[in-house]
Amino acid sequence: MTDPNPLYGDACEVCSTYDVFPESALRDGAYGITAGYRCPNCGHVWTCGWQIVPGRAIPPEPGTDPRIFHPQVNAQVHEQAAIARARKHLSRGDSA
Ligand SMILES: [Zn+2]
Repeated sequence: MTDPNPLYGDACEVCSTYDVFPESALRDGAYGITAGYRCPNCGHVWTCGWQIVPGRAIPPEPGTDPRIFHPQVNAQVHEQAAIARARKHLSRGDSA
């Protein structure tokens, strides 16, 4: 079976470029990642949350290679991962 999207590619919502691949990603719990993208055409930066698909390569963590990773992408990945963690804490409903 062929994975139609083996690299967690996404499309740029600004200029509609397809197959933009994540520069980096942070794990979001055991089953998810928050991936960061920068459009090669227009420079738009965004993040996308994914359920980890078994067998797919997970993009490297932000900041592991400063030659590749864009500071703005790193910042957004960290911010979205933090928001996702906060949501889980809130939805759990315990008052720790
Ligand atoms: Zn774009």
